[in-house]
Amino acid sequence: MDERSSLRALPSVDVVLNGARGAALVERHGRASVVDAVRTVLARHREGIREGQPAPSLEGVAIDAGNLLDARNRSNLRPLFNLTGTVLHTNLGRALLAEAAVEAATTAMREALALEFDLDTGRRGERDSHLRRLLCELTGAEDATIVNNNAAAVLLALNAVAAGREAVVSRGELIEIGGAFRMPDIMARAGVKLVEVGTTNRTHPKDYRSALSADTALLMKVHTSNYRIEGFTAEVDGRELSAIAHEAGLPMMNDLGSGTLVDLSRWGLKREPTVAEAVAEGADLVTFSGDKLLGGPQAGFIVGKRDLIARINANPMKRALRVDKIRIAAMQATLQLYRDPDRLATRLPTLRLLSRPQSEIRALAERLLPEVAAFLPEGFTPSAAECHSQIGSGALPTDTIPSFGLSIEASGSALERLASIFRALPRPVIGHLHAGALRLDLRCLEDESGFIENLRSIRQAELFSA
Ligand SMILES: *Cc1c(COP(=O)(O)O)cnc(C)c1O
Repeated sequence: MDERSSLRALPSVDVVLNGARGAALVERHGRASVVDAVRTVLARHREGIREGQPAPSLEGVAIDAGNLLDARNRSNLRPLFNLTGTVLHTNLGRALLAEAAVEAATTAMREALALEFDLDTGRRGERDSHLRRLLCELTGAEDATIVNNNAAAVLLALNAVAAGREAVVSRGELIEIGGAFRMPDIMARAGVKLVEVGTTNRTHPKDYRSALSADTALLMKVHTSNYRIEGFTAEVDGRELSAIAHEAGLPMMNDLGSGTLVDLSRWGLKREPTVAEAVAEGADLVTFSGDKLLGGPQAGFIVGKRDLIARINANPMKRALRVDKIRIAAMQATLQLYRDPDRLATRLPTLRLLSRPQSEIRALAERLLPEVAAFLPEGFTPSAAECHSQIGSGALPTDTIPSFGLSIEASGSALERLASIFRALPRPVIGHLHAGALRLDLRCLEDESGFIENLRSIRQAELFSA
């Protein structure tokens, strides 16, 4: 066929739509999307014909349109395998929720529930009430409130307690968490004047005492969650700082960041300060995240003294930063798991993954090695290798957890190519490029058969051309 007759042989949009496959596409994607996809496909084929390719069949056009629609609809929010070695990866959504939390959230999405309605009296209720008792029980605090995330918790608490006045913070604790969360900026936005004391490496009780003035509203401690200052250092601990604050008749606030509710050393992990400890040390307010070590949905908590929490709840910003019913339901189910610490490590994915024994991960790596090797052409050399996981989200930044994984070596550009092919899989596989190898830390891989099945989609042609 010459070019002109091939072009004439191309089916019209209507003919494609009225065919069996076309009709099925319309049923699935809606008429307007299918018309647009078929037009795009026909235009590509017209170009192909001009370059000497044959005309496609009616069925071929419909199949191409179907693939295009599938690609357009494929969400970047689809599940992926987090093999980065960072268990609580902020860019990959932080904590995986417990099954009980997923169920509670699903129910909350489907059904009406007494979110702000008191079932005893039939009157208006409060959305925080579903979490307050649990939080007080687990932290020993008098009262508690929940907002969108810990950044919001810090902003709100500062504004409610210290707006127009001064808050005193050590120069060693003026953290940046990443993104736009920098303590001095948050202070400014909260309308609070930051008074820095001490030096980067050493701050003493007298530094805080001599900074007190008639304008001081708050002494603040910030957990240096994503760095450590080592060497010639001195800091004022939470107990001493709250004593200094209370002598002056002022409140002390401790931003714990990750804030775990349990002592992690029980599961062989390094200790992070618990919220209950911060409360027992005398902090009047403690702020922490819901989706870091706690293992729940994104949220921020403020726990502490009743009168201060009441001021926080009365602040108009509280309404702007409040949490929806889905997360409240998921958080309630998550917190309930903490009532049974003996089974926490099996029920709470964050803790289950963090406490997973290296021997188990090593056995998994050794089973997967031949499977992965079978999908890779020559030039890619996989091996099972020891590696080190991180908790992530700024918890225990300098401590790593011995783990095991696969390390795939290849020359520079081939490696980038492999990483991008892994990212394009139906369930993207996200590893970590380091020292001439793509490293896949298997700590967070629990669906072994799903992982192998997923590899079947590796486009061999692309790999061989790498
Ligand atoms: C993570 C962190 C925050 C911010 O918490 P988000 O829940 O991410 O908003 C604030 N302060 C400290 C010390 C943190 O570690």
